[in-house]
Amino acid sequence: MRRFLISLLLTSVLILPFPAVQAQRKSVKANKPVAATLASQKGAEQITAGQIRDYLTFIASDEMEGRDTPSRGLDLTAKFLAMNLARWGLTPAGDDGTFFQKIALKRDLVNKEQTRVRLNDQNLSFGKDYIALPATGDVSGPLVFAGNGWFIKSKNMDAYKGIDAKGKIAVMFTSLSGLPRGVSSSDLSNGKSGEDWMDPVQYARKQGAIATVIVPDFQFLANWERNRQRLSERPTTVVEKFQPAETSRLPRIVITPRIANLLFQGEKQNATALFEATFGGETPAPFELSLTKKMSVTVSSKSDAIATQNVVAVFEGSDPLLKDEYIALGAHYDHVGIGTPVNGDAIFNGADDDGSGTTALFAIAEALAKAPTRPRRSVLFNWHAGEEKGLWGSRYFTEYPTIPLQKIVTQINIDMIGRSKKAGDTNPRNNSLSGPNEIYVIGSKMMSTELGELTEAVNRDYLNLTYNYRYDDPKDPNRFFFRSDHYNYARKGIPIVFFFDGEHEDYHRPGDEPQKIDYEKMQKIVRTVYVMMWEIANRPTRPKVDKQLPAELSGAN
Ligand SMILES: [Zn+2]
Repeated sequence: MRRFLISLLLTSVLILPFPAVQAQRKSVKANKPVAATLASQKGAEQITAGQIRDYLTFIASDEMEGRDTPSRGLDLTAKFLAMNLARWGLTPAGDDGTFFQKIALKRDLVNKEQTRVRLNDQNLSFGKDYIALPATGDVSGPLVFAGNGWFIKSKNMDAYKGIDAKGKIAVMFTSLSGLPRGVSSSDLSNGKSGEDWMDPVQYARKQGAIATVIVPDFQFLANWERNRQRLSERPTTVVEKFQPAETSRLPRIVITPRIANLLFQGEKQNATALFEATFGGETPAPFELSLTKKMSVTVSSKSDAIATQNVVAVFEGSDPLLKDEYIALGAHYDHVGIGTPVNGDAIFNGADDDGSGTTALFAIAEALAKAPTRPRRSVLFNWHAGEEKGLWGSRYFTEYPTIPLQKIVTQINIDMIGRSKKAGDTNPRNNSLSGPNEIYVIGSKMMSTELGELTEAVNRDYLNLTYNYRYDDPKDPNRFFFRSDHYNYARKGIPIVFFFDGEHEDYHRPGDEPQKIDYEKMQKIVRTVYVMMWEIANRPTRPKVDKQLPAELSGAN
């Protein structure tokens, strides 16, 4: 009986399904648009609002402590992702057969006891007269005035023009956090770092200066005590591989106006005049200070080696040739951690930013693993760390990729897709928030006409959401194009699509919590991205790059 049944089944399998499947395909094709067919064939309905809510409620819970980079909460989130990816049968694509691509970090803190600054025969007082930034060095020498410290060719700005700073200490009037007055970020992004422009640290090193002394802007001075704590009580964390070699890190100190006055006493211009001129947007000519003045700077700092990680997984494609190519999906699973409490809540949960993208990728990975067939190309999932610190994870991955970057045919970045503007919401902070059926799409047409068209076609044939292209411009003043991880992929020539819901009242605040997410909206967007991913993965050819990178990108560093 058994045997017969089997052979009967085999026969029927051989004879029956072929025409049946063909017929079914045909009728489906005739009645339903192609993306909708793809969605039902590949199980897009497995992705549900309820499932997304479950995952996001965990990922953005208080127990994750705001997922700062690095932090225990971030590591826990990484382990949660990896454990499930393993259960679903995804392939680890991090280091050494794991889902983790380790990113070595350095946590620097100035060692105040071993830090000394002397001006002629006077010992300056740490905290009261100056703040030293982390670095290690012991230098002394004469001083030069080096304007605002910058070199910007297009602005004719050269802080060391006509002077020799070699072996000397460079004194500059410059902001520690921004650009000189009259310079915008596009002035820099149109040129190449190191050639067309150099920031004060780069340029001082290039000029052979042995240390920099910074007279900060008014804003820094007004918050001197807070800045002192931030810079000398709390460690600064940096990615080890993004730093210049230790030997070339110059000692840097920030001084008060009182010390600046002492430095420029008897010089051709006094400190007040120089302060007003440089911060007023002028570029006073550099000069050498009197050789009777000598400064010695001894800075010591302690450095801890710590680490964080990207979570990287691959779902292998079925086509023997095309599986070497990847459609990449990205989100950042970090947020900003614990901060100043608002209404007693100090945990920045980051449910929308970017718990929503983290969960979107997670739900897509699960749906893919449970789909009846495999896509032809492979799918690369990357949960980036340190996005909030300055796109660390995506920069790290694209500089030290674990798979060949030229094999990535498209990168889809999902950063904030969970919030929607409710009817009647008049809060001005929600002005640019997208509606329940709407999402901002950025970058899809920037490099590939084909990718732009495909993005539209999938949406039109499937759920027909409103794709809003308002921010789809590298020149947009909000600069959203530069503010999330896709940027690092685009720089490498990979066509990207970025989905984003817009800024809102809880953006980077403790109120970005899971109960405020519109899960129905997320379901729609995640399903759409899922279908789009299938469409790109199964095409015979990769989306053709037929446009030049915008100038804002090609020269950017
Ligand atoms: Zn953010």
